[in-house]
This record gives sequence, structure tokens and C-alpha cells, in this order.
Amino acid sequence: MPRYECRVGRIETDITTFRILARMSWVATKLYNTALWNARDVWDKTGKIPTGIDLQKTVHESPYHVLLPAHTYQHPAHQVSNGFRSWFALRKSDKTARPPGFRKKEFLSSILFTEDAFRIAHNGIILLTISKGLKDELGYPNKYMPLRILRWGTPLPVGQIKQLEIMPRNGYFEVHAKILLPEPEWRTEGRIVAIDLGMRNPVTSASEDGKTEIYKGGKLLSHLRYWNKERARVQSAIMERPKGRKDWSRSLSRMSKRGARQVGQGIHALTKQIAEDCSSGNVKEVVVGDLGGIKKDKDGKKWNDKSSQNWQQFPIREVVSQLRYKLERSGIRLVEIDERGTSKGRCSACGNEDRKLMRRVHRGLFVCANCGGHINADVNGARNILARYLHQIGKPVEGSSGCLAQPSVRRWNGHLWKVVS
Ligand SMILES: [Zn+2]
Repeated sequence: MPRYECRVGRIETDITTFRILARMSWVATKLYNTALWNARDVWDKTGKIPTGIDLQKTVHESPYHVLLPAHTYQHPAHQVSNGFRSWFALRKSDKTARPPGFRKKEFLSSILFTEDAFRIAHNGIILLTISKGLKDELGYPNKYMPLRILRWGTPLPVGQIKQLEIMPRNGYFEVHAKILLPEPEWRTEGRIVAIDLGMRNPVTSASEDGKTEIYKGGKLLSHLRYWNKERARVQSAIMERPKGRKDWSRSLSRMSKRGARQVGQGIHALTKQIAEDCSSGNVKEVVVGDLGGIKKDKDGKKWNDKSSQNWQQFPIREVVSQLRYKLERSGIRLVEIDERGTSKGRCSACGNEDRKLMRRVHRGLFVCANCGGHINADVNGARNILARYLHQIGKPVEGSSGCLAQPSVRRWNGHLWKVVS
């Protein structure tokens, strides 16, 4: 499976760059509206939505298409086609759904450049193809226009830029680059670490060498709870508004400024910290519980304290995908296994699976009457995932019984995951 990463860079815009990009963006809006006009016309006359190919033909017939490179002028047609398709699907359940609307002529559309419409010079400068039509119109002498990037939000990874999208912003332009990464050199030597993902503790890890670590959510979770509450409040307020005024976007953007950003930063720092520790700590594989399995296991059994509500609130998928690509940069594989029953159904110290012998003493701590062990529930979960995986690959499980070392603890303080014990 090809792996991509995306980077955002701010373009250094001199007057020539500005003039050319602004013109291209204007043309993209024009072609978008042309395709949209055609799509509405077809819909009104036949009750069918036009195919993507029909819309591509429409933009090709527009005299403006010559001002953009070949694949670039088709992009607005794709956008209209996608917009119509999702509207068509939505209509089935929501009769009030409206088809995509026209863009105002001052609206600056994004401009998409596929691989054949740019080159990268050896000094890293991006060279955008300028179509012959635009060269003639603006009297621009060169086939390529150099695009200098003031700075990338995050440094570019090693890889091949496959696509560029230029986004007009307020007074400047940004480039969004999609980069194809090379196949990593997978580590063949090293330890295996298992990770239990949860709401109370976002991450709890157990390593083959017996070490365990807990990432306590603290502040991050209070932001998340606040955001969820706020969303529910805004949602009910919007439902009471009259029809046609149920616009979410402004409330949502205010909310995302408050809560969602902090949560995003916390998760980014979390996955970064884990990936760095694994990279420097001689780890070759990280195992996480399969997320499909978790959801199936919510049939009211008290043993599973990951209530379904909590799972919806904590963006587990996001954590896993970030962790995967950050680990892969160091050649560490992320493996997902079925974790049903691992979090509470088994004592990781003695392997006892008789639930009658296991008892929760208080929040997050439970006792096994078979071996007398006291263990943090999430540490137990992580150790069980590790044991299950090692069993699957036929590796002996060492250090599974006897005295457990205290887990080390990290806590999110709003800036970093600080070691607290
Ligand atoms: Zn036990």
C-alpha cells in the first residue's frame, strides 16, 4: 500500500507569482461554475446527474481551459461531479438538501497540479508549468514559473512529490504537497511493545522486557470533555433555530478554536513521544488492539469498562494512524490484533481467565484471587495484548509471572507528556 504524507508551505509571493496564481485561481472558479451550470441543466432536463466525463467535456469546451495545464483544468469538473454525487446521495434521506451552489466570481478556487504539471529543480524549487494560453495572455516568457516556499509547516520527508494544490488565503498563497514515501527499511531486530488505547489513559504500553508505561490524559481529557459538552450545547441550540438558519459553520469554527486544537496538539505530541521512544529504544514492532474487535465487545459485560460512549469521544483512529506513520519513518511496524477479552478477561500475571476470581477494587485497579496480584487495569490490558501477539507468532512469553515493576507514568501538561514517576 503506497504511503503518503502531506505538507503545507507558504509561498513567497512576488508580484509576478501573485498575478499568475490569482489568474489561474480565477479561471478555476470560472470552470467550476461552467461545470456546475451544465450539471444543473442536465439535472433539470433529465433528472439525472451528469457523469464526471460529461463535465470534463464541458470544461474542455470552455475557452478558458487553455489558461491552465491539462489536468489542472479538469479539477473543477471533478469537484462539481463529487459535489453532485454527495448531494444526490444526501437527497434520499434529506429532502431539503440543496445541490452545490455557484462560486462568486471573486471567490478564489484552489488550483491542483498533478505530477505532469510541475517539476522539482535540484535546489528544491518547485517549477510550475504555465500553459501556452496563459503565457500568451500575460506575456510571461517562460514555460515554468519558479515557486519559492518561504517555509514548510513541518520539514519535507524524503519522498516524491506527486501532487500540489495551491490554496488562496487571505492575501497570500499556500501550497499543499502530497508526498509519496519510499518503502521503509523494516527493522528485523528489536523488542515488541503492545499498546492498550483507552479513554481514562489514552495509551498504556507493555514491552517484551517487562517495562510498562502509562500516559495519563488529565488535561487533554478535560479539554475533550469540554468540547463534547460544548458541541451538544451548540447542536441543541441550532436545532431550535428556524429552518434555513441551521448553519453550523460559524459555531463550529469557534469551537474548533477553543477545544479541538488543544486536543489535536495533545494527540500529536503523544504519538510523537511514543514513536521517538520506540525509535531510540530498539523496538521493531508495536502491537495495538484491533479497533473493530473493541466495538463488538460492548455487550453490557462489566469487564469491559471502555464504554461505547467513551470510544466515540476519544479519536482512537486518529491516534492509530498518526502512530503508524510516525513509527514507519523509523522502520517500525504497527500491527493490529483482535483484542477482544484481553483488557479484563484475563490476569496477565498468572494467565487466569476465570472472571469469578478477578475483582475490581477501585477505579482502574483490579485484583486476581488466583495469584493475589494487584494490577492497573490498562497495564493488564496491554500485557494481555502482548501475550496474545507473542503467542500468535509463536514466541515464548517471558516475565509473565512474578513481581511486576511499577509502570512509569507520563502526564500531559498542556505542552508535553512529562514523566511524573
Ligand atoms: Zn493472576
